[in-house]
Amino acid sequence: MKKLVIASNNPGKLREIDRILQPLGLEVLPQSAFNIPEAEEPYCTFIENCLTKARHASELAGLPALADDSGICVDALNGAPGVYSARFAGEPKSDQRNNEKMIELLKHETNRKAHYYCVIVLVRHPHDPQPIIAEGSWHGEIIDTPRGSGGFGYDPYFLVPELGQTGAELPPDVKNGMSHRGKALAELVEKLKRADLIQS
Ligand code: IMP
Repeated sequence: MKKLVIASNNPGKLREIDRILQPLGLEVLPQSAFNIPEAEEPYCTFIENCLTKARHASELAGLPALADDSGICVDALNGAPGVYSARFAGEPKSDQRNNEKMIELLKHETNRKAHYYCVIVLVRHPHDPQPIIAEGSWHGEIIDTPRGSGGFGYDPYFLVPELGQTGAELPPDVKNGMSHRGKALAELVEKLKRADLIQS
């Protein structure tokens, strides 16, 4: 396996995936290079949506494909926003309105536990019976007052208790080293090596 299509058009994600996989001999191509439209994401679990995106890109590009899906799950909200994290407060998507809705729903809650989750799927072809699946979680607590200007999404409200800082207060390399996405990417590399898809 040398070429890989990524089922995303998000430049930040593409850069991060390329930075990790390119030194391992994998050429990473965005799905926009093949004019592939975004796949529907109709399911209530991250893994189902992620598999759907990977299969769709692989089918249309005729190449192995990698997809990722992520979001934040709040314990007191039964795992919401979950797969709806990007559009929790509806269209058009807005980080500010998503955060306002989450804080409003947690108004009377003392349990503030939450975690980010990321799943990455690689299919060798659209009918691959054994996709490579890597996951990562990042645990923290939701605070009422935002702190920090880095990161994105829910980061200013996501406190990492052991550091006493929010996701938005952490330098990018510190965040990448401990985040759900960083952990999932590290697990992906290990699994690709074990499956002999890249060299150790
Ligand atoms: P997607 O996987 O890029 O579709 O991300 C889904 C949504 O989850 C994003 O739009 C954010 O709202 C949220 N999210 C995922 N990862 C992070 C993160 O590292 N920080 C803040 N929000 C995140």
